[in-house]
Amino acid sequence: MSESGMKNISSDPTCEEIFTVLSEYIDGELSKELCEAIEAHNGNCPPCQAFVETYTKTIELVRTQPAEPLPSAVKDELSAALKRCQDALDQTR
Ligand SMILES: [Zn+2]
Repeated sequence: MSESGMKNISSDPTCEEIFTVLSEYIDGELSKELCEAIEAHNGNCPPCQAFVETYTKTIELVRTQPAEPLPSAVKDELSAALKRCQDALDQTR
């Protein structure tokens, strides 16, 4: 696999940057440096931490049931987690 298409984020990523690379992060496609930057951010950002956890669970669920469409309950949980994160972001502005 070529590295030219790899996404890049800053070493001190914002919540938005984390969202843009979340699927790569969970798939283990990011560099060690980026993973560490995300983990460091999540250590100080409970909404992002919760979002990553929800997202990871969702991916696992989908992978264990490849023939099933994404259950609506999972979709709801994911969008609720994203909304909580966005609300938390808005409060910091
Ligand atoms: Zn965050």
